[in-house]
Amino acid sequence: MRAMVLYQFSSPLQMADLPDPQAGPDEVVVKVRACAPDMLDVKTRAGQSNVTLPRVLGHEIAGEIVEAGATVKNDRIGDRVAVYDYLNCGACEFCWNGRETLCRNNRGIVGLAIDGGFADYLKVPGRNVLPIPPDVSDEAATTLVSPVSTSLHALRERARVTPGDYLLIVGAAGGVGIHMVQMAQLFGARVVGADVSDEKNEKVKKYGAEAVVNTTERPFDPSFDEAVMDSTGGMGVKAAIDLYGSSESLAACYRCLDTGGTLVRIGSRVGDRLEINPEALTMKEVILTGCRYNTKEEFHKSLELVRAGKIEPVVSFSFPLSEVNEVLDQIEQNKVFGRGACIL
Ligand SMILES: [Zn+2]
Repeated sequence: MRAMVLYQFSSPLQMADLPDPQAGPDEVVVKVRACAPDMLDVKTRAGQSNVTLPRVLGHEIAGEIVEAGATVKNDRIGDRVAVYDYLNCGACEFCWNGRETLCRNNRGIVGLAIDGGFADYLKVPGRNVLPIPPDVSDEAATTLVSPVSTSLHALRERARVTPGDYLLIVGAAGGVGIHMVQMAQLFGARVVGADVSDEKNEKVKKYGAEAVVNTTERPFDPSFDEAVMDSTGGMGVKAAIDLYGSSESLAACYRCLDTGGTLVRIGSRVGDRLEINPEALTMKEVILTGCRYNTKEEFHKSLELVRAGKIEPVVSFSFPLSEVNEVLDQIEQNKVFGRGACIL
């Protein structure tokens, strides 16, 4: 099969001819139809993820089951599926109580711990495939795997957004961000979106943001805070979601919190740090937390929101397997709006 393989950090992925994977007893083999690259792939290529090489990257995957191991029901062959990319145990207390992203025995992520979706086929545990109905396209299914579901997890479980809350989303035009802007409408939140250009921010507004901030003109300095404060009547935001994840963006999000506000870190950059005045934890009862991906229940809810037309999957372009490196470059340079999808 064809596969785009990372052989060496800080080097382009290389097209290789690998043996087709064979399903183990509890595994399925998926014919990949679409796989969306994101910042994690960029960081992995740069040597900033925990991965051994060589590795096939790609973890937002949709396809069709073509082989099932002995303990996986055979009638699943031919099913269209999305791949749930956390390799959880299914048996610890977190897996049992609906917080499986905190699995105590997590073996890592598809595309890092095992080979991923920038290939004609991949094999995953049978419990890692989630059915996709006929009215959801392969490209749309890739957005469900992380962007839409993570938005639901972040807003419902971590930020606990309620109607009328001001919500700051940094990185609002990105793959997760543009779906979070939409999801926020369903919670009745008032979104202040921030991204790197007016062109991107216009689209963020089109998807429902009430106000926007250009982070190139206002690079997380006092002028950024001023713009957010102006957009919220001087109050600050009830929740700030940082999808960018630099020390500067985290600090700006923290400064823009209203009393009782919550900072949710999702994005990460190498060496990011947050210095705080701990007095604010007491006097303002602010909450600092993070968002670790999403649960399968959130995937299913997200799927139904997409099917009902409440969330529009934003896949702004598609491309062939041979062009994965070029698209990773574009993601690295903040040039991609929403998600792109590699079509196989
Ligand atoms: Zn577990």
